[in-house]
Amino acid sequence: MDRQQLAAELKKIFPAERVLTGELERKVYSYDSSFYARFHSFVPDAVVLPRATGEVSAVMRLALKHGLPVVPRGAGSGETCGCLAVRGGIVLDLSSWDTIEEIDAANMQVFARPGVVHYNLNESLAGYGLFFPPDPGSTRMCTIGGMVANNSSGLRAVKYGATEQYVLGLEVVLPDGRVIQTGGVNCRAVKNVSGLNLTKLFVGSEGVLGVITRVRLRVWPRPVARGIAMAVFADLEEAPATVLDVYRSGILPSGIEILDSSAIRAVNMYNPAINLPEAEAILLFEVDGNPAGVEWEGRKIAEIAGKRAVSVEWTTDRERMADLWRGRSVTAVAAARLRPDGSRIFAGEDISVPFSKVTEALRRIKELGREHGVAVVNYGHIGDGNIHTAPVINLESREEVEQANRLVDAIHRLAIEMGGSTTGEHGVGAVRNQYALDEHGEAANVMRKLKQALDPGNIMNPGKLLPPEGGSGND
Ligand SMILES: Cc1cc2nc3c(=O)[nH]c(=O)nc-3n(C[C@H](O)[C@H](O)[C@H](O)COP(=O)(O)OP(=O)(O)OC[C@H]3O[C@@H](n4cnc5c(N)ncnc54)[C@H](O)[C@@H]3O)c2cc1C
Repeated sequence: MDRQQLAAELKKIFPAERVLTGELERKVYSYDSSFYARFHSFVPDAVVLPRATGEVSAVMRLALKHGLPVVPRGAGSGETCGCLAVRGGIVLDLSSWDTIEEIDAANMQVFARPGVVHYNLNESLAGYGLFFPPDPGSTRMCTIGGMVANNSSGLRAVKYGATEQYVLGLEVVLPDGRVIQTGGVNCRAVKNVSGLNLTKLFVGSEGVLGVITRVRLRVWPRPVARGIAMAVFADLEEAPATVLDVYRSGILPSGIEILDSSAIRAVNMYNPAINLPEAEAILLFEVDGNPAGVEWEGRKIAEIAGKRAVSVEWTTDRERMADLWRGRSVTAVAAARLRPDGSRIFAGEDISVPFSKVTEALRRIKELGREHGVAVVNYGHIGDGNIHTAPVINLESREEVEQANRLVDAIHRLAIEMGGSTTGEHGVGAVRNQYALDEHGEAANVMRKLKQALDPGNIMNPGKLLPPEGGSGND
């Protein structure tokens, strides 16, 4: 089917203003936030903006009939080309389908359509004293559909876990257009162990098995108090040791973040007013809960950290907390300041390693950076071993781009070698599927079989997540 025919068919399903086929309109959808997308152009044949389950179903039937790829897209904030049409086809832009259908506070759950932005959902829940705990840094842009598809999380995952822990049920349109409800057709219970757990199968499936058109999420009581402790270390090894001491004291902070010496330097270059102490590492502990508990836990953390750190500060004062947090919140952007012509790239940026290997991983990433001649800034969620690595290069230099690609490959392989994962947050998409067999072994082939069973025509977001057919490169 040529583009004109495709546009005509899509206009039978959608009003004309929700079918985008112009060259420029399609080009807008040819990138996400990934490094890879910068150098490759994945322009879809058409883009549609569904706002009803029946519309998605009709697109899937049309696509299946003509063997066209279909790619779901939320906000496009992903870092892995997940929402890009790497084999052409139709992009389903779900971002304007952003209705919170019901906040069922009596049953501690919420029903939402996929395009609801994470931040907006939590703003709406705040009035009920509730919240949806996963907290990606992209909160003001990413959609709930994208979060479920990527099983997203953030710096509070150490206490609250990832999105998967809150998804009670999903409405999913399958590649043949059928619509299913996972987690029980009319279920509003929060506990349900009946049947195979199809909800978990679709969470984190990155759009390769079906389109998520409605989510039922569990929500939690919103903590009323918060406090932050900052500890400064002269020796990197003392930082994870302190985290372990805190865990062993019976405290589970809501966030534990690390900035190593490279991140501290970058932040101070970016904004000297932040003035972080020069050190091998800085830890930020956040605790939340009720005021008395927060005070007790914060003081205890300060006491424990004081045994290894060169300085510790604990506060519940709002302004001071914002000050202490400022360094961490600008790190991702500050990284580029390491050199005047530098850009921070999002590639190899979110490996996770066993907690006991965090120090070794940080040291080895620094060594790899030196070996490959690429400056690297390290920071991240030390509490659960999720390290953010920020290579800084001159994007105009082809040689530096190639050096960075080699470094990133080495970082991914290091994560697997250390018993970790190539991605703790951002997912696989089209940039990490070449590691699927190394990371998952035979289980990766079972993933392929599941995909074949649900999508025998391979039209649902092909070329992503699963091991490439040929064994390497993008399938
Ligand atoms: C500044 C910044 C900070 C970030 N911080 C974090 C972080 O802290 N933690 C984290 O986990 N991620 C983070 N990310 C990555 C990204 O924001 C998350 O993965 C996010 O959940 C993606 O949501 P999205 O709506 O942008 O999805 P998109 O990028 O549009 O899509 C992501 C994937 O989900 C699929 N998809 C989207 N919607 C659906 C649907 N309805 N049905 C089926 N499949 C679907 C797409 O096909 C694609 O594979 C960050 C990104 C940026 C740019």
